[in-house]
Formats: sequence, structure tokens, C-alpha cells
Amino acid sequence: MKKAQITRDPQRSADRATPDRGDGPGTERTVVDIAINTSWYREGLRFSCTSCGRCCSGPQSYVWISYDEAVALARHLALDLNDFGRRYLRRVGKDLALLDGAGDDCVFLRDKQCLVYELRPAQCRSFPWWPSLLESEQSWREAALQCEGIRHEAPLVEASVIDAAGAAERAEEAKGHSDIRKDV
Ligand code: SF4
Ligand code: SF4
Repeated sequence: MKKAQITRDPQRSADRATPDRGDGPGTERTVVDIAINTSWYREGLRFSCTSCGRCCSGPQSYVWISYDEAVALARHLALDLNDFGRRYLRRVGKDLALLDGAGDDCVFLRDKQCLVYELRPAQCRSFPWWPSLLESEQSWREAALQCEGIRHEAPLVEASVIDAAGAAERAEEAKGHSDIRKDV
């Protein structure tokens, strides 16, 4: 997912920890645990992706990618890691993010479909279960304004599934991105 101001979005940084993830080049990010109130969604939340593609599009947002994720994608695309970096990555401060494609869409978005869906970054896989969106009922309602998959008629997703998705993303973030060539 690119960047509806949700997925590839600045706000996402908050999920992973720093004050914000819309931080621009040169901004340092730090992974820390953030405590969120999970009690309000203990009964689960309703969500089902409609594949509208909105969260994979939009300017001034980022899809962060870890070293392990980049290696897996490079292998999948039969590219040398450096070639993969030159074609698909950009450096943002100390981190790496996917490049934008046409019209500020994620470089891997085609006709509202993700070309690397099975290997999409944890940031994408964990959406919309980001701490910043789960902070409160209010933040969840605001997310629903941008994601049509958050709707009353959607299937109920259990809280344990939601919590596991968020934890998986934070684990990926903690792996860091520093092993890829510096001039990507
Ligand atoms: S990698 Fe795929 S799911 Fe993630 S933003 Fe790009 S197109 Fe969307
Ligand atoms: S329904 Fe939501 S998660 Fe699915 S593509 Fe649209 S904005 Fe993204």
C-alpha cells in the first residue's frame, strides 16, 4: 500500500515509534515500544480490504522497507540487491523506502494491484493495524475516512489477530536497513 495518508504515509512513523514517520530526509527515527490502549477494540474490529488501491497512492508518504524485505524482493524479481536498490528504493535519512511510480503511486502498484503482494513490506501487511490508527476509536474512525475497507458490514477481525499484525510490523522495523548500499 502506498500512501493514502495512511499506508505510505507520514503518520505511519508514529506507529513504529518516532514522533512521526513523515519525517523527511535526514530525520532520525528510533524504534521504541509504544504503549497503546487496546481495550477499546477487545471485541474486534470490522475490516475487509476492497483492493481500492488508495492506501498505495498519494504524495509525501513512504513505504519503509527492511533489509530482509529488500533481499526477498530482489530475489523474487531476479535482481542483484544493488540493482534492486537502484530501481526501486530511495534513501530517506538513514532508512530506505520504496520509490514512487507514476502519479505518486507506489512503484509496485499497477491497476490498483500490488505486483509484489506476497512479499509486500510489513508496513503494508500490517495496515490498518497500526498503533496510530488503533490509538482510539476516534483515530479508527478517521482511518475509515480514507480506507473503505473499514466498514460496518465488513467481517469482524479478532483482537488477537490485530495485535499480532502490529507486533510483526514492529519486529520487522527493528531489523533495520543499514546493510544496503549507501548510495541507493
Ligand atoms: S508494496 Fe504493494 S501493498 Fe505496499 S504500497 Fe506498494 S503496491 Fe501497495
Ligand atoms: S480498502 Fe483500505 S486497505 Fe484495502 S486497498 Fe483500499 S485503502 Fe487500502
